[in-house]
Amino acid sequence: MLSIKLKRRLNYYDGLIRCPHCREYFFLKDNVNMDIMHTLTHSHCQPLLTIKDSGTFQNILERHPQCFPQPTQQQQLAKAQLV
Ligand SMILES: [Zn+2]
Repeated sequence: MLSIKLKRRLNYYDGLIRCPHCREYFFLKDNVNMDIMHTLTHSHCQPLLTIKDSGTFQNILERHPQCFPQPTQQQQLAKAQLV
C-alpha cells in the first residue's frame, strides 16, 4: 500500500522530466537508467557508461527519494495547469 506522500510524489514526477536523448517524458512504467550523476535516460535510448541504478521510473523514484523531493502544493498546482 502506497503512502499518500509517496503517491503525491509519484503523481507529480509522472510525465514531468524529459529524457535528454529522445526528449520524451518519463512515465512511471518506463524502464530507465540512472547514472552516477543522477541523470536519467530511457534504457532503450543511448546506454550510459556509468549506470548506478536501473528499473522502472517508479522504482527509481522510490529508491532515490533524495533526488526527487516531495513537491510543494505550488509545484503540484503548476504541473496540474500544464496538463
Ligand atoms: Zn529516451
